[in-house]
Amino acid sequence: MKALVKAKSEPGLWMQDVPVPQIGPDDVLVKVAKTGICGTDLHIYKWDQWAQGAVPVPMTVGHEYSGTIAELGTNVTHLKVGQRVSGEGHVIGFKSRASRAGRFHLDPETKGVGVNLPGAFAEYVKIPAFNIVPLPDAVDDELAAILDPLGNAVHTALAFDLVGEDVLITGAGPIGIMSAAVAKHVGARHVVITDPNDHRLELARKTEPSVVTVNTSEDLRAVAESLGMKEGFDVGFEMSGAPAAMATLTDQLVMGGKIAMLGLPAKPFEYDFAKMVLKMITIKGIYGREMFETWHKMLAMLQSGLDIRPVITNRFAARDFDTAFKSAIQGGAGKIVLEW
Ligand code: NAD
Ligand code: ZN
Repeated sequence: MKALVKAKSEPGLWMQDVPVPQIGPDDVLVKVAKTGICGTDLHIYKWDQWAQGAVPVPMTVGHEYSGTIAELGTNVTHLKVGQRVSGEGHVIGFKSRASRAGRFHLDPETKGVGVNLPGAFAEYVKIPAFNIVPLPDAVDDELAAILDPLGNAVHTALAFDLVGEDVLITGAGPIGIMSAAVAKHVGARHVVITDPNDHRLELARKTEPSVVTVNTSEDLRAVAESLGMKEGFDVGFEMSGAPAAMATLTDQLVMGGKIAMLGLPAKPFEYDFAKMVLKMITIKGIYGREMFETWHKMLAMLQSGLDIRPVITNRFAARDFDTAFKSAIQGGAGKIVLEW
């Protein structure tokens, strides 16, 4: 089969012929339909320091996928060949205390499809049946290919109660934009999103017209006041990984405000903890998706009117992956989907 492989320890990816994965008794073989390009894939393409440390070579990459079941392991009785599916890309262990208590997303032995397990940028991918999520008709293959990052957005947005709250989101990348739509869907009052990139802010307005967009060069406090916020925002989502964004959130939140932090800073940075303590701000780190409550809730929201389709801005055939990766690296695009 064709697969997009990190074949050499240098920048780039290579389309190669590799064997179709052999599944074990508890696995499922998925015939891949569509896949999403993620920031993680860009790190692997560019072969930065993180990628060099995390990814053994050769490795088929990619973890955002949709497809149909092609083959079932002998122990798998609850799924059917031909069924449309997506699935969780974090493959967990079952030995830890967290896992045994059902808090699967907190298992410390987690491995990543397309990072340290063969990935989904291929005609077929092997996934543990435990990780498979069947798709409702309302979620087509293209939307299903971006459930992984939508799940990041949903996990972040549902970390704190948003009903009637004013939300500040730093970072209008695809995940920040989707989290704005989710915040509105679940009942936030005002949702404001910031970014230094006007193209990204435009995409945020296109995806969720009720969101207020603010360039990081503008006066955010004045915008908050114009919306009637006297004391600041109630909840913040950090969706950029930029140190400056954590300072902004800490400044702009009310006393007792809450920050859900998904953005991954590239390295440790200086932060005013005294301000955080004196404002009694709660910061919650968010990783991946909750298995499988995030999946349930995001599919339910997509079935009840949540629309994030405009965040998908480019579609390519898998053979044109190099053009697709180059447009992703340029920035400004939303989600980019590859068709297999
Ligand atoms: P992205 O890189 O596409 O978007 C980040 C956006 O932040 C960009 O538009 C950038 O212009 C903007 N930005 C930069 N500095 C800013 C600042 N000071 N204030 C406001 N915005 C600023 O990323 P994405 O794919 O949307 O992912 C968002 C973040 O989440 C990234 O940091 C990514 O690494 C991280 N991530 C974490 C997890 C997890 O499980 N914790 C999963 C996926 C992604
Ligand atoms: Zn991803």
